[in-house]
Amino acid sequence: MNVQSPKPAPQTALKKPSRQEAEAAVRTLLRWGGEDPEREGLIDTPARVVRSYEEFFRGYAEDPAAILARTFEEIEGYDEMVVLRDIRIESHCEHHMVPIIGRAHVGYLPNTRVVGISKLARVVDAYAHRFQIQEKLTAQIANTINDVLQPRGVAVVIEASHQCMSTRGVHKPGSSMVTSRMLGAFRDDASTRREFLAMISSRACTTPES
Ligand SMILES: [Zn+2]
Repeated sequence: MNVQSPKPAPQTALKKPSRQEAEAAVRTLLRWGGEDPEREGLIDTPARVVRSYEEFFRGYAEDPAAILARTFEEIEGYDEMVVLRDIRIESHCEHHMVPIIGRAHVGYLPNTRVVGISKLARVVDAYAHRFQIQEKLTAQIANTINDVLQPRGVAVVIEASHQCMSTRGVHKPGSSMVTSRMLGAFRDDASTRREFLAMISSRACTTPES
């Protein structure tokens, strides 16, 4: 008899492979590249790559909304823009699985509460340490801050270079992509948006370093 069980959420529906399976996949890619995975210099490489992946993609284990949960209300009526700029971005492109390196600028207009600024950087990291495209990364950061803090507005600008463009494909090192998401007052009020862009502009037009 066929009993219908509720569909698990997409994240849990996927069975995570074992560490041994992941290491075997790295050995397959080494052979695909033309190597002998058993030679001395490569013998520990699969284990190292899998450990690196744990670091690169640790964002899947983090809950960005929970990071913003603790807020401060004793802000003496502060209602001006809060901007954290030049937050280093280290992500991976979901199409080629190669690095996206750049920086993010995050601003919001507090309503009645603010968060510790390191929390904004941690939200950026939690989403960056996943397989990404820059457009989605930008939107996820802005939407989460908007949903959790319910500020009067949120602005996120990301500028990044994509190694899938610089080291392969069209081979265009030095190019960077800029994306932005403006919500609330940053979207509706041109002077608010201008103020934010002026605050980040001294940095926004330079190439991300290393
Ligand atoms: Zn790519």
